[in-house]
Amino acid sequence: MRIAVVGTGYVGLVSGVCFSEFGFKVTCVDKDKNKINNLNSGKIPIYEPGLENIHERNVAAKRLIFTSDLYSAVKGADVVFIAVGTPSRRGDGHADLKFVYEVSKEISKAIDGYTLVVTKSTVPVGTGRKVKEIIKKSNPSADFDVVSNPEFLREGSAIEDFMRPDRIVVGLETERAKEIMSTLYRPLFLLETPVIYTSLETSELIKYASNAFLAVKISYINQIADLCERVGANIDEVSKGMGLDKRIGNKFLHAGPGYGGSCFPKDTLALVKTANDNNSPVTIVDETIKYNNFRKINMLAKIQNSVGELKNKNISILGLSFKPETDDMRESPSVDIIDQLVNLKAIISAYDPAAMDEAKEIFSDKIKYFSSSEECIKGSEIVVILTEWNEFRALDPNLILNLMDGNTIVDLRNIFDPIAMRSAKINYISIGRN
Ligand code: NAD
Repeated sequence: MRIAVVGTGYVGLVSGVCFSEFGFKVTCVDKDKNKINNLNSGKIPIYEPGLENIHERNVAAKRLIFTSDLYSAVKGADVVFIAVGTPSRRGDGHADLKFVYEVSKEISKAIDGYTLVVTKSTVPVGTGRKVKEIIKKSNPSADFDVVSNPEFLREGSAIEDFMRPDRIVVGLETERAKEIMSTLYRPLFLLETPVIYTSLETSELIKYASNAFLAVKISYINQIADLCERVGANIDEVSKGMGLDKRIGNKFLHAGPGYGGSCFPKDTLALVKTANDNNSPVTIVDETIKYNNFRKINMLAKIQNSVGELKNKNISILGLSFKPETDDMRESPSVDIIDQLVNLKAIISAYDPAAMDEAKEIFSDKIKYFSSSEECIKGSEIVVILTEWNEFRALDPNLILNLMDGNTIVDLRNIFDPIAMRSAKINYISIGRN
């Protein structure tokens, strides 16, 4: 079976590489020639643990190739995955489907024999049908089926998530499509991965309903953390107490500065738009979006309350990516928080184990960049923890204090123990813990 994957971002690249690891011949396509050149010379354009090894192994085995020539990649492919971006459309928050539709049209011209066109991008209900129409209109004689196969991988553990997913969701309409999809995922059926075969619409909605639910869960625990601060309770213990209930589960119950990343912000917005368009509002998700936006901004007050005037204060930021183990800074809370600090004329030093290149693109010379926590902290009056990278957890409070010029740590990820911090004479502020 020959597979083409269009779009070699976080999802397309991981999917392509993993399908080649299953033994299929995979061609990954991207219109970004620079990315393709890098991939062809062995350079992985994203930080994703474990990806480099699998990429190298499958390129060497000649099962995995990269090209910017979509036509030749699709011609002769049995399955074509669409894995391009679906960002928020400027102005109205709907998912912007222009890349998906552009690619569908291009694919239609190269279809050569029965082909399965699979949307792996996160796309609103109705997109699969629209893709079908586009292909039919542009190439009436094309023999194809459209399948929805949303991806649930998480950046930072993408390989493991792809290889051992909680479930595989497949929306389709024909037995022929089902046969091919089950061949593709056979290695995972052997691991007894649950598979849901359903309609295109249901499959598309499962993805949005899942992401929005997780965003709601995060916002819920963040609001409970606010309440903890008012009533003298401890959010870590509240989360633990709640999470042990199997009906609730302990995942996504960590209070923090608000969710970010390339998925939750845009997917919650897109779900609200779809729901409103269909006169069936999801008000819980709407409230979640508003609260999360407020929260990211409100984190500034937390920093201000700890030290007062921020003008000309030396502030070190540890962690920039929206979560650990990725270089992705899309919609990261760090962007809103640093922007506000810069506007207030604070002097910002920053360090992240993986996202420094991304940060330079975003902030250019508005902030200073360092290559280790220690260098970043040196001489600062306030240290703010924005991403819970493991290497920050191991920092010794006495060492931090010796390097700093002040003694305030604002820990927006609750990575340190308040008792240890206070006994080291650190003015320690965290989330939902007094
Ligand atoms: P991305 O922005 O990292 O990558 C998209 C890629 O598509 C880019 O490399 C871009 O150059 C390429 N592209 C755009 N138009 C093209 C065209 N016409 N021809 C060839 N290539 C083209 O995006 P991503 O984070 O991988 O997300 C892709 C989709 O998967 C989105 O819909 C997203 O919501 C969904 N998703 C993402 C994640 C995640 O963790 N990033 C998880 C699950 C689902």
